[in-house]
Amino acid sequence: MKTALVTGGSRGIGRAICQELHKMGYYVLINYVSNQAAAEEALALIEGQGELLKFDVGDPEAVKTVIGGWQEAHPDEYIEVLVNNAGIRKDNLLIWLEPQEWEKVLNTNLNGWFYTTKAVLEQMLLHKYGRIVNVASLSGLKGLPGQTNYSAAKGGMIAATKALAQEVARKKVTVNAVAPGFIKTDMVEGLDEATLKKDIPAARFGNPEEVAAVVGFLASPEASYVTGEVISVNGGLYT
Ligand code: NAP
Repeated sequence: MKTALVTGGSRGIGRAICQELHKMGYYVLINYVSNQAAAEEALALIEGQGELLKFDVGDPEAVKTVIGGWQEAHPDEYIEVLVNNAGIRKDNLLIWLEPQEWEKVLNTNLNGWFYTTKAVLEQMLLHKYGRIVNVASLSGLKGLPGQTNYSAAKGGMIAATKALAQEVARKKVTVNAVAPGFIKTDMVEGLDEATLKKDIPAARFGNPEEVAAVVGFLASPEASYVTGEVISVNGGLYT
């Protein structure tokens, strides 16, 4: 079986992406950082056709050790699909934003992208095939008040997507991003859905599966001539 890695694959959007890649026939490496029970549920949902890889995407040594360890243990295989989905938010108006809130969000959402992508890219280039899909955000396209840290991280990820796409296109590795709007997961708990949905043309929050379907397309062989692209999945919310 071909192998895919989904960071933050244990809950929310990442879990739906694991299920989509499983349907596409992938053996899915499900990354998570702390919630073991949720990770095990995600693994059960893909019928055990994968394994759990616990590491903090923002810890460069952990990323190298765990992904490198998996690669060493599987010399005849490689991760041909990488979905950089792990992310957190720590919202605050800039005037009150603490340096650690800035650093933690940038480290997980943007540095984590760099560490993980670097750990899998070489094998994709050697095999002359790969799909990298980055889960960005509406916030990274438009900027949202109270999210300067998160907007900066996701905006950075979008720019890095476009740059890396041009570096590796000749080797048949594509690099794209999806930019979800409001999607029903633990991350949006506490947001005022009734008020926010008035601004969404589709008049509702999205479901993780609606993001996963687009990720599945970008991760498929059929998306071979799509690279450096950002696809919004936001119910028509103007970006
Ligand atoms: P979620 O429900 O909060 O799930 C987050 C996932 O990321 C969990 O699997 C979590 O693992 C994992 N994770 C968090 N920090 C990690 C770290 N340092 N290392 C490895 N894994 C880590 O979030 P979600 O709503 O599904 O969001 C997924 C992605 O979509 C994020 O990048 C988010 O920014 C983006 N996004 C979400 C929305 C939305 O409305 N929900 C909108 C736009 C973009 P544990 O279970 O171990 O904590």
